[in-house]
Amino acid sequence: MSESALLDRIQADALTGRAIPDAATGETIGFAPEQTPADVDDAVARARTAQPAWETLGHEGRREALLAAADAIDAHAEELARLLSREQGKPLDGPNARFEVGACGMWLRDAATTALEPEVIIDDGEAYAEQHYGALGVVGAIGPWNWPLMIGIWQIAPSLRMGNTVVVKPSEYTPLSVLALLDIMNAHLPADVLIPVVSGDREVGARLASHPDVAKLMFTGSTATGRKIIEATGGNLARLTLELGGNDAGIVLPDVDPAAIAEGLFWGAFINTGQTCAALKRLYVHDDVYDDVIEALADVAAQMPMGNGLEDGNVLGPLQNAKQFDIVKRLVDDAKTRGRVVLGGEPASDLGANFFQTTIIADLQDGDPLVDEEQFGPALPIIRYSDVEDAIASANRLDVGLGASVWSSDRGRAIEVAKRLRAGTTWINSHGTLHPKVPFGGVKQSGYGQEFSVAGLKAVAEPRVISG
Ligand code: NAD
Repeated sequence: MSESALLDRIQADALTGRAIPDAATGETIGFAPEQTPADVDDAVARARTAQPAWETLGHEGRREALLAAADAIDAHAEELARLLSREQGKPLDGPNARFEVGACGMWLRDAATTALEPEVIIDDGEAYAEQHYGALGVVGAIGPWNWPLMIGIWQIAPSLRMGNTVVVKPSEYTPLSVLALLDIMNAHLPADVLIPVVSGDREVGARLASHPDVAKLMFTGSTATGRKIIEATGGNLARLTLELGGNDAGIVLPDVDPAAIAEGLFWGAFINTGQTCAALKRLYVHDDVYDDVIEALADVAAQMPMGNGLEDGNVLGPLQNAKQFDIVKRLVDDAKTRGRVVLGGEPASDLGANFFQTTIIADLQDGDPLVDEEQFGPALPIIRYSDVEDAIASANRLDVGLGASVWSSDRGRAIEVAKRLRAGTTWINSHGTLHPKVPFGGVKQSGYGQEFSVAGLKAVAEPRVISG
């Protein structure tokens, strides 16, 4: 199937749909169906009706269906990646669109095949209890625009695996690629087990969150919206997994080889052109290696091509939308008055309206807006430190805690520092590398609940104890 044939299967007509622009060029890619809170009610009702049979199918039956869906994603990988690249902006090449589609199959297979057996809690001759895990019912999955397919699968795959049915609300910025993914998967799933609802506005997400028949919400997005979701679930008491915003710190210790870590630092900060929840968003570098690390990082960054995602070789793209572009521009304009521009610092207007140059600004301090606020774009602030205690205190001082990283030639020393960082994941000599077997989630106001692996399956299951 070509990319346009894929699009034709899911898009609305121009009269009733909402035009979705190509993030790089602004041209209309297609038209997303506009739906309403009444459509949410209908979708939840259908998902609720379909759920018992899906649960009764059992793990084996669901595994077969989910593995077939994963194969179908792989079979349509190129057209999905092209649509994603146009809608989201991320290039086909590099750790971007093709990588994201590949990750969908990988995570779906992992969830489909990971076992979650009943656990014997106590068996001492007097007491006996087993912990079982059943389905919750209907799961609502609300996603963001930065990694719309991969994050969608992170929410959908464990939920389906555990026997829930799922109603999906993709971001209004990236509905087409998610609709296409679900269309491909649904060819291998029973009717109404996986239902997309596309937002005309945020009311649709709000209705899903507060719907009385939604048992669980998987939400990935901003901390501000996360708070609204918590309020919205006061009535239905839906369980929550919240993956929210971050402002990940990286600490470079004085013993590093700057050239050896430069590429890892670059991708840690600039993957998906910085529009990544667990990206390196503020970098603390020891005085001894400060200039050398900045020079090595800037050398790598300057060589990374930015441009239209469909053109071969580009590994950086535009900001996905004008609102995000404005946030990045405001923070960089301010940072230029406080620090030293090492690289970039300006819109890349020659490439298109939403492009911003790869930007590195050194000599900034805690409290500067580019350091303290989540930039979610291609602009990295660098802060000098001389005492590692200060760097640890700086890393921990914000109210978010998604990821962090420590960079050092001495693994033992790095682990000692890592143990003191309040983050859901602290990486050593990399940043943001994920694996389906390794639980992922935030601490503090970056959210709660873990995804992936057994922990992720338990998060979308109903724990039931059988005792006696
Ligand atoms: P957002 O919060 O604006 O939107 C996320 C989703 O919530 C969208 O689908 C939106 O339509 C929906 N929504 C908005 N208002 C709602 C409401 N009142 N009720 C229910 N749903 C509502 O986030 P975004 O701008 O799409 O994504 C960027 C943010 O997401 C960043 O802060 C980023 O750090 C965070 N993020 C976190 C992770 C993670 O794993 N922790 C991953 C990706 C992105």
